[in-house]
Amino acid sequence: MKYEIAIVGGGPAGLSAAIYASRALVKVALLEKGLCGGQAATTDLIENYPGFPDGISGMKLMEMFSKQAERFGTEVITLSEVKSIERLEDGFILDLGDGKLTSSALIYCAGQSPSKLGIKGEEEFYGRGVSYCATCDGALYRGKEVVVVGGGDSAIEEAIFLTRYARSVTVIHRRDELRATKILQKRALENPKIRFELSAVPDEISGGKLVESVRVRKLKDNHLKDINAQGVFIYVGYKPNSRLLVDLVELDKQGYIITDSQCNTSHPGIFAAGDVRRSGLKQVATSVSDGAIAAMSAVRYLEAF
Ligand code: NAP
Repeated sequence: MKYEIAIVGGGPAGLSAAIYASRALVKVALLEKGLCGGQAATTDLIENYPGFPDGISGMKLMEMFSKQAERFGTEVITLSEVKSIERLEDGFILDLGDGKLTSSALIYCAGQSPSKLGIKGEEEFYGRGVSYCATCDGALYRGKEVVVVGGGDSAIEEAIFLTRYARSVTVIHRRDELRATKILQKRALENPKIRFELSAVPDEISGGKLVESVRVRKLKDNHLKDINAQGVFIYVGYKPNSRLLVDLVELDKQGYIITDSQCNTSHPGIFAAGDVRRSGLKQVATSVSDGAIAAMSAVRYLEAF
């Protein structure tokens, strides 16, 4: 099947690009390996996306984005993972494993995936107490003790979310100062269910069939301490999902795609938007902006094609 624009990734950037490109009457396919929404769909309540003064569930917001893209004619193809992207003389060929499609331009919005700690027990107990998504798994920890690793916005936001279910939430952070924005810090500090282990890192996750405890090392004196926990939620940043473009476009040292202000990558006809792009602020609002810019750049590229 031949499209004018193929969009890889169905998070806020990809869906915004789809709305803008298909509204410009271009033939658009959006490919998403799971269901649309990306990381935003796993956020319980989005409070800083304009237009929703009381906040909105990430899942609901992403459903509305997707509906809007389809209304303008985007073909949203879910459960469809792009395995490789090859350059053709007049465009690109995307291998989906069970079929291929071609496009004249490509908007790449594959987002980022959670970073791992790389400690003993992390992989072994994944799905048996170790999680990277509090919104998905938090309800399993009603009345239990959990830890959250990390001190950024994700860690603190999810620690607060987990207090709905958990008896106690211990935040383990490697410095003595949190990175999260002040409003989240204030909410966490005021929450009686949240405790902090600062200047500390987890060394090992242990248990039987399920997680039972986390061994923490205090960085000031290397003192080891075991914390009882049935759940370990890890929020230590993200890695860009740029693997498919490694040989096609310029990436920075961390693997983020380098673009100009119009979301052009170093390869003509390939545009990048959202969290996978090197940018300062990673938010639904900035991804939506990126998607719109990338779509209009791609439409202009097609007009000159
Ligand atoms: P982040 O800001 O990169 O924070 C990662 C945290 O993990 C940091 O506290 C970092 O410690 C810690 N860390 C990293 N590697 C570690 C390791 N190996 N061992 C122990 N700790 C480690 O990531 P994020 O919180 O996921 O946020 C990503 C972006 O999304 C940010 O721009 C954030 O503002 C945004 N975001 C915004 C909201 C919101 O606006 N409500 C919500 C979620 C995310 P250090 O502090 O010492 O580096």
